[in-house]
Amino acid sequence: MDKTLLVTGGAGYIGSHTLLALIAAGYRPVVLDNFSNSVPEVLRRVEQLSGAQVEFVEGDIRDAGLLDRLFQQKAASGNPVQCVVHFAALKAVGESVANPLAYYDNNVGGTTTLLQAMDRAQVRHFVFSSSATVYGEPVALPYTEQHRIAPTNPYGWTKAMVEQVLRDWAATGEQRRAVALRYFNPIGAHASGRLGEAPQGIPNNLFPFITQVAVGKRERLMVFGDDYETADGTGVRDYLHVEDLADGHVRAVEYAGRTEAPFAAFNLGTGKGTSVLQLVRAFEQASGVAIACTVLARRPGDIASAWADPALAYRELGWKAERSIEQMCADGWRWQSQNPDGYSN
Ligand code: NAD
Ligand code: UDP
Repeated sequence: MDKTLLVTGGAGYIGSHTLLALIAAGYRPVVLDNFSNSVPEVLRRVEQLSGAQVEFVEGDIRDAGLLDRLFQQKAASGNPVQCVVHFAALKAVGESVANPLAYYDNNVGGTTTLLQAMDRAQVRHFVFSSSATVYGEPVALPYTEQHRIAPTNPYGWTKAMVEQVLRDWAATGEQRRAVALRYFNPIGAHASGRLGEAPQGIPNNLFPFITQVAVGKRERLMVFGDDYETADGTGVRDYLHVEDLADGHVRAVEYAGRTEAPFAAFNLGTGKGTSVLQLVRAFEQASGVAIACTVLARRPGDIASAWADPALAYRELGWKAERSIEQMCADGWRWQSQNPDGYSN
């Protein structure tokens, strides 16, 4: 019997790629999503690519009654949920500064509602989408999991707070297991070109902005600062392929099933830094399209450099990122060029 998992936010960018990895590993994911930042077409494509039917519930993680019914129904059908993989969250840093309560409500309140429903249904394993943003300004690089936690915006605080909630929840001696995955910068798309990142409106992140310039949806890339203390003056980040990140979730679900540790946090990154201009050059190479750039002032709140020490994830999860920057660019370009308007093509 396949193991049944609840995947919140499974129609989103990282969730959809993770569904494919979970199905390939023999899991049976049930998706809960309210489509606040995604569309049903994503799940249709996951079904096409996997050849599996994906069970889906449209609804909100803050709806306790819905969660109770969902867990009960799975248990009654003989396929109780074994683990929750929790992607559902709001994720725009700027918006979190403007509207912090929406972020605390959805990301923190939503998670406690979910954990309470899990407790009622006796579901004990939890994998959480955390972020490298919990570290804030680096004291030293690469960031290890021991780095102090000091987010610099409400979005980052929601991730740090949920990690604390999970630590406390798992420490109660009820065989609970919580795994927080601190993602660095996921980019790229599924190698088929059928799944990818489809931001609504103007992209906040660098990579989708580049791909939208390449496809003619935006005129030019604004480079936020070229006066950082980095090799070429532009900001350095640890970009990882979204399919590598998806594989990390399969490893984390397996780890939750075997570990004695109630709570653990892992960096998921490559361990390598790439600057804005290096990423632009790599993308130009992969796509054959020139990206017009204009240098502007630094973006408020940005740090110069961030990259992971991913050694703990390798040691404990057996996971490491395999795909190169070139592959991230080639796959991201395949997705964007074949789906210039995202899923509304
Ligand atoms: P996404 O917006 O594409 O996916 C999130 C999904 O959750 C969407 O489908 C959205 O409709 C759904 N959702 C949001 N609130 C919900 C609610 N209350 N109930 C039900 N569904 C809800 O984002 P993503 O990039 O796939 O990110 C997934 C997770 O990873 C998020 O928790 C995000 O904070 C985290 N993360 C993302 C990045 C990144 O760079 N993309 C980096 C670090 C961490
Ligand atoms: N960046 C940029 N132009 C953009 C978006 C981002 O120059 O339109 C830079 C940003 O200053 C940072 C890097 O690209 O140095 C990655 O930014 P992103 O928002 O993708 O990730 P984060 O800063 O959250 O790690």
